[in-house]
Amino acid sequence: MAFHYESVKDILVCPKCKGDLVYDENILVCVNPERRWCYPIVDDIPRLLIDEAEQLSSEAWGAIMKRHGRDPVTGQRSTESLE
Ligand SMILES: [Zn+2]
Repeated sequence: MAFHYESVKDILVCPKCKGDLVYDENILVCVNPERRWCYPIVDDIPRLLIDEAEQLSSEAWGAIMKRHGRDPVTGQRSTESLE
């Protein structure tokens, strides 16, 4: 069965900080701007394991947040940061 992010996005959280995750192609990215953890998806299975986490650079992380409608600095949804 293929991995369907839309059906699980509300229950998946970052195993390190319990924050939201953003799905970007074949990775899941933690929205915590100080951690920027990225988890691989292998054979349609997200590997949400602390040992598998890799830390993205601020630039790479910001670009992914921006692509998914989030603030490239805070990782918050743009609608939330407008308040
Ligand atoms: Zn996290």
